[in-house]
Amino acid sequence: MQLQNKIALITGAASGIGEASARLFAKQGARVVVVDLPGPAGEKLVEAIEAEGGTAFFQPADVSRRADNEAMIAACLERYGRLDILFCNAGINLPKLITESSDEEIDRLLDINLKGQIYATRYTIPVMLEQGGGNILITASKTGLVAQRDSPVYCASKGAAVMLAKALALDYATRNIRVNALCPGVIETPMLRAFADARPNPAAAWKEYSESQPIGRLGTPLECAEAALWLVSEAASFITGVALPVDGGFTAM
Ligand code: NAD
Repeated sequence: MQLQNKIALITGAASGIGEASARLFAKQGARVVVVDLPGPAGEKLVEAIEAEGGTAFFQPADVSRRADNEAMIAACLERYGRLDILFCNAGINLPKLITESSDEEIDRLLDINLKGQIYATRYTIPVMLEQGGGNILITASKTGLVAQRDSPVYCASKGAAVMLAKALALDYATRNIRVNALCPGVIETPMLRAFADARPNPAAAWKEYSESQPIGRLGTPLECAEAALWLVSEAASFITGVALPVDGGFTAM
């Protein structure tokens, strides 16, 4: 029980890496705020967590909206009285050249992937300072460390996410708030499936993703969740400002 008595809020928790993390954190004793866009997936996940003996509630939010970030933190405090772990994980992809990306697509991506994380941390840090500490984890990507073709706006948002984590880590290092970035490689989630489906030959793209990983396969959401758990747990108590690749060796190439 590595997160006994902890309160964890996870954005983008209804699918993929966020879902695996919500389940794992709950199994490790955390009470979890499942944050995602309105829809049945968040409630279904809460039911699944409760069926496994955990505690959670669903807070619908669009993280691109400042007011939704404020409201999700307020809902967490109202229900559980504190916030120990903020996992800013919601994100979208934009597999397009910069010349093909519309104003709306660029704004939407940056609003979710970057401003969402800025808003969430901005509303969380005063709470953590007041309660004497906390833990923040930001989902960046291997594309925040090394570039990828055909996704320049996405890469830019993930590079910014790495720097947001590092900068916040410095600002609050002496105040008992650790801030780290998780940098998944190519992980088998609905986002990756959509990315492959947007290619001219989705089956060939999927095969290529698997075979191009040094480890010879795709990562799983649970493997990312395990790394996230470690980073937010006491086991990583001297680790802050780190961008941890969980990428089967991709960034070693
Ligand atoms: P996913 O699509 O399975 O899950 C993302 C979740 O975020 C979804 O439930 C979605 O509804 C939610 N979301 C999207 N926009 C939102 C918004 N405006 N407000 C609230 N929730 C919103 O994707 P995933 O692969 O699990 O991705 C999770 C994170 O990991 C993302 O930040 C992504 O960029 C990052 N990532 C994924 C991979 C990969 O290979 N899958 C690699 C590197 C980084």
